[in-house]
Amino acid sequence: MMDLVVRSRRAVTADGERPAAVGVREGVIVEVAGYDAVLDAAEEHDLGDDALLPGLVDTHVHVNEPGRTQWEGFPTATRAAAAGGVTAIVDMPLNSLPPTVDVDALRVKQAAATGQCHVDVGFWGGAIPGNAGALPGLHEAGVFGFKAFLADSGVPEFPPVSPIELAAALSAVDAQFVVHAEDPFHLHEAASSAAYPDFLASRPPEAEHAAVRTAIDAARAGGRRVHILHLSAAGALPLIRRARAEGLRVTAETCPHYLALAAEHVPPGATEFKCCPPIREAANADLLWAALAAGEITCVVSDHSPCTPELKRPDTGDFAAAWGGIASVQLGLPVIWTAARARGHSLPDVVSWMARRPADLVGLSRKGRLAVGADADLVAFAPDASFTVDPAALHHRNPVTPYAGQTLTGVVRATWLRGRPVTGETPHGRFLTRES
Ligand SMILES: [Zn+2]
Repeated sequence: MMDLVVRSRRAVTADGERPAAVGVREGVIVEVAGYDAVLDAAEEHDLGDDALLPGLVDTHVHVNEPGRTQWEGFPTATRAAAAGGVTAIVDMPLNSLPPTVDVDALRVKQAAATGQCHVDVGFWGGAIPGNAGALPGLHEAGVFGFKAFLADSGVPEFPPVSPIELAAALSAVDAQFVVHAEDPFHLHEAASSAAYPDFLASRPPEAEHAAVRTAIDAARAGGRRVHILHLSAAGALPLIRRARAEGLRVTAETCPHYLALAAEHVPPGATEFKCCPPIREAANADLLWAALAAGEITCVVSDHSPCTPELKRPDTGDFAAAWGGIASVQLGLPVIWTAARARGHSLPDVVSWMARRPADLVGLSRKGRLAVGADADLVAFAPDASFTVDPAALHHRNPVTPYAGQTLTGVVRATWLRGRPVTGETPHGRFLTRES
């Protein structure tokens, strides 16, 4: 007797898309059978032609609680995640206070999150100048690895590391490192301006190229795993390609906004489009898509990074003054599916980029896949339905979005976390910790 069976003619299983029935017992997938299989279950759903996906895994989310809870918090971020088909997030170590740079800070954050999470939540630690000695203990406490900035992070309590400090962090612990790759020597102070090209010119592609080079050099010298966060400049791709050919453990992600938005179309004063690194031209996005198709970029994650509306949209429309960050944990799946489908990609491609590979990045062997033994994190997704983005329908705390008014294809109809529906009422998310 199973607790739950969900059937779909378009189930994206670990072996590809096919008609299937997924059986669940005690929160775990115990059977992936044919669509018409006779399975004895307490509860059954037939999605028909709607797709059944594994819950997405978003390894790049800034929740900001505690400390900047008015920017975002655990209940709102995780409700938005579930509404977007994301059942596991990994929270970034900065923008909350204190930043997650030692075990005490991790405990403070976990205490703030306790009982508030509608999806499962894991944590990244932070590598800042002088905390290399804290990294082994923090790793032992279960963080998935360590984030470092090579340029100003935007908040004073999380300073960037120099190449030498990055090397010190890498030599302190054998962990997954994730790097914000912009080189400060190639960044210019942006002048006050409501013109997007002025902001874009202040963060040229060369800043990413140089920082990716620094990160690859550190990976080579330390023999460590280094992941390039939110890659925007396609010109850095040959560097990553060569590093991988060399056998270095270097991977890269990009985000929905770098793939689906374009600098040419950012209206004057539309600071909801500001993020760092910046959204570049459409021709650059084409190259990112090609790299994704070729497996050179391994995953697509949101970099959900909200703030208050006052910080995000100053009255002046000044790109220099606005906070950089795009909050899209709820919209990533339809944004990517809409654009991916138009480019001839399949649902299994999207699941690979947004569920399986992010899970693999952090070693979550039971997440991001519809397979026997995996957690029963399930998403009912209508791949042909469309909707118009209404900020009022977003669940994150400050629903400002560059996607407002866009018509997107793909609607999340329901989300289950370990076999139980996520309703947005009683949270039943758990903390995730590193498996090995
Ligand atoms: Zn980020």
